[in-house]
Amino acid sequence: MDTSALSHAFTIALPAWVDDELADVPAVLRTREERMALVHRLAGRNFREGNGGPFAAVVADSGSGEIVSVGVNVVLSTGISSGHAEVAALGLAQVRTGSWDLGADGARRELVVNWRPCAQCYGATLWSGVRTLVVAGSGPELEEITGFDEGPVREDWAAQFEARGIAVVSDVLREEALAVYRDYAAHVAATGATVYNARTD
Ligand SMILES: [Zn+2]
Repeated sequence: MDTSALSHAFTIALPAWVDDELADVPAVLRTREERMALVHRLAGRNFREGNGGPFAAVVADSGSGEIVSVGVNVVLSTGISSGHAEVAALGLAQVRTGSWDLGADGARRELVVNWRPCAQCYGATLWSGVRTLVVAGSGPELEEITGFDEGPVREDWAAQFEARGIAVVSDVLREEALAVYRDYAAHVAATGATVYNARTD
C-alpha cells in the first residue's frame, strides 16, 4: 500500500466566529441557566454561519462554573459526520485538561447541551468522564421540528448515565431550545440548508 494516499489526521476545530461570540462572555458562568443560555446563543449562530446544525455544547466545572470548553456542530464545514457539538466540546476539554478522563483527580465537570445527545454523542458522553449531563430537554420535539434523525437511543438513557455515575439534569431553558429549533426549521425552509441524516434506503 502506498500510504501517501491515506489521510493521517482529521480536525474538528471551532469556527473563527466563536471567538467573537465569546468576547463578552465571562470565563465563569455560575448558574446552569447561564451556561445553557450560552449554548443556545452559539447554536443559534452556528446554523446561520453554515457550520452545521443548530447544536452547541459547553463543558464546565460544576462547582465553580468555569467554562472549560465550547463546541458547535461542524459537520457541514468540516465534512466530518462525527463533528457534533458534544464531540467537539468534550474533545476540546480533554485537550485542554490533558486527559481522556474529564473526571480525573476528583474533577466534577459537566456537559451542557441543547438536547439529549444523539446515538453517537450518547456514547461519547458516557466515555468522557463528565459527572453531570445538563440538557435543555429530551423527547420527540427536536426531531419533529428540525427533521434530524437522532438515531436509536434507549428508553432508559438517563438511568444508564446515572448507573455510570453521571447525573442527568433536564429541562434547563427548554422553551428557548425549541425556539432555536424553530428558527432553524424556518432557515432551512427559506434557504434550502442541508439537514444531514443517516441514509434511509
Ligand atoms: Zn450527536
